[in-house]
Amino acid sequence: MSNEIKTIHDFDFNLICEYFSGLERQGPGSPEITRKALSFIDNLTPDAKIADIGCGTGGQTLVLAENTEGQITAIDFFSKFIDIFNHQMQEHHFDNRVKGIVGDMNDLSFEEESLDLIWSEGAIYNVGYERGLNEWRKYLKTGGYIAVTEATWFTEERPKEIFDFWNESYPEIDTIPVKVAQMQQAGYIPVATFVLPENTWTEHFYAPQPPVQEAFLKKYAGNRMAIDLIDSQRHETQLYYKYKEYYGYVFYIGKKI
Ligand code: SAH
Repeated sequence: MSNEIKTIHDFDFNLICEYFSGLERQGPGSPEITRKALSFIDNLTPDAKIADIGCGTGGQTLVLAENTEGQITAIDFFSKFIDIFNHQMQEHHFDNRVKGIVGDMNDLSFEEESLDLIWSEGAIYNVGYERGLNEWRKYLKTGGYIAVTEATWFTEERPKEIFDFWNESYPEIDTIPVKVAQMQQAGYIPVATFVLPENTWTEHFYAPQPPVQEAFLKKYAGNRMAIDLIDSQRHETQLYYKYKEYYGYVFYIGKKI
């Protein structure tokens, strides 16, 4: 990497990664909600094979590890996140059964019918919810589960400002009935669906960010790209507070049939 000329894209990528690596979570969620979602999943034995896709630095994986006994393989695109992830698992003495690996969710290399559970919080949008449900299904054993969180509209109509924001960032956002139907059509029984409470955004995702933003702006004083990145994070936070009745994250849990 050091011999290459850094493109804007590389720089942006590293900057985003650095910003989020200073946070415990890279998306909305909380330990209570991970445990709640896990409560819908049965038949997990000490031999269970679990995948956590788009694991980030491992906030939710720690909760999975504390509440299951099987082997967890966690995948993320960013090697810096995986380094932090594996360090964390070592510190918590989970490194004998929890491994973080750099990988691409568009091109997973699990054996077919090998997994008991696929977990993915705040990340399946990177491949697309519907495509992810369909493509990842082959890795699950029959009777295995998938549990994902996904950005979802709560209403049939919504103000233009927030519609435009989501249409630009993730046009696949849709309502709960549509997402549940897509899960069923992909070959799962939709076993549970619940809305993540507001505190998974406010307390667990947005509240820890201002000190990280301050430090970041200090470190990269005058750097346009860093300033733009923080501006966009602040804008996203403001939109959430303004429009939280219209959208949020929903846990979708399905059982492969
Ligand atoms: N599950 C974590 C992180 C969510 S953020 C949490 O809830 O806190 C989304 C994550 O997906 C990021 O860590 C990002 O690096 C990862 N990601 C994005 N595209 C990816 C891809 N193609 N393959 C694997 N991981 C990807």
